[in-house]
Amino acid sequence: MYRLTVPSPTPAQGSMEKIYHAIARRGASGPVSVCPAEMAAAAVRLCHTQSCGKCVPCRIGLRVLAEELDKIAAGTATEKTLAEIESLASAIHGGADCAIGTEAAALVLEQLPVLKRDAEAHAAAPARPRPFSPCRARPAVRPVWTSPGT
Ligand code: SF4
Repeated sequence: MYRLTVPSPTPAQGSMEKIYHAIARRGASGPVSVCPAEMAAAAVRLCHTQSCGKCVPCRIGLRVLAEELDKIAAGTATEKTLAEIESLASAIHGGADCAIGTEAAALVLEQLPVLKRDAEAHAAAPARPRPFSPCRARPAVRPVWTSPGT
């Protein structure tokens, strides 16, 4: 006779569940005025933490891609940097074996036009500490005050 067992999650698995829920909440409720380059780099790093390491484009490529995206936010990205980002993301998209790698690369490829504008904005106004981000690729969201009757 077989005994039915329901394995309980390890402390690490329980911790990961909480982290994933916190990330999902942050993504759903975060401001839309944050820097696209910083968010893209953070998303690529998140995918890199999930990499199983089997294929090189994902294991190594995502780390390098995040470092290249950091250059945009730092205001040091050149046209060569942007070309490398596009080339690297395309290589990862075509060479990764599963959605962890391909979706991270697709996210960057889809955002390339915005990231190019972002790079120009950051290069024109060197990076300053938060909350004074020079990022103008996406207009800042400001509260609109209206008085009753207007
Ligand atoms: S793309 Fe998928 S299979 Fe390849 S290293 Fe990343 S997680 Fe592993």
